[in-house]
Amino acid sequence: MNHIKDSLLKIRYQVNGASKNAALIAVSKHQPPEKVAITLQIGQRLFGENRVQEALAKWPTLKEAYPDIQLHLIGPLQTNKAKEAVALFDAIQTLDRPKLATALLKEMQAQNRRPECYIQVNTGHEPQKAGVMPEEADNFIRQCIADGLPVTGLMCIPPAGEDPVPHFTLLKTLAQRNNLPNLSMGMSGDYMQAIACGATHVRVGTAIFGERAGI
Ligand SMILES: *Cc1c(COP(=O)(O)O)cnc(C)c1O
Repeated sequence: MNHIKDSLLKIRYQVNGASKNAALIAVSKHQPPEKVAITLQIGQRLFGENRVQEALAKWPTLKEAYPDIQLHLIGPLQTNKAKEAVALFDAIQTLDRPKLATALLKEMQAQNRRPECYIQVNTGHEPQKAGVMPEEADNFIRQCIADGLPVTGLMCIPPAGEDPVPHFTLLKTLAQRNNLPNLSMGMSGDYMQAIACGATHVRVGTAIFGERAGI
């Protein structure tokens, strides 16, 4: 398990050296508690999870021990989980459709809690992938903000096996055009490229924790 500490310290050093403005999200999905504990012991507080149920099973007790933990939802959100997501997460990075916007707004009002929202953009127009199409992003962003959602950024997952840089650049252009400060992009294989393109949040899982348990 020692490699986790070494990997996290190395990546943190790289990220901090490349940008004062980039935060490292440790993606802890499908990782066992003892691995997560190592990162907490060396000060990691920002984590990403991709499923509401899994996050609910793991994080409430850890949040009691470490109240400054920040949790980001980075996986698809079903509207019927909006209530639990608003209650647990500090940011929801996968807002991508009007129905979900409505559900989140309703829950934020009911719970008087306003986790930041990032809009996920399907920069590669991949049919199997979540996210608004880039051509529809401006309208959707404007609508969400007009409705009163706390939209602060954009998120993308470039197509596997493609050069991610054009996707990062597109996301940055969309964010600038809409005055959104946060850009969540870059994973284990390309986080340094993402930072060079202006990422404010990189989402790194396997490069910190090693391979995930079978999904
Ligand atoms: C799993 C996941 C990551 C982390 O991927 P790694 O390649 O393990 O770093 C980042 N972003 C999202 C949306 C994910 O689902």
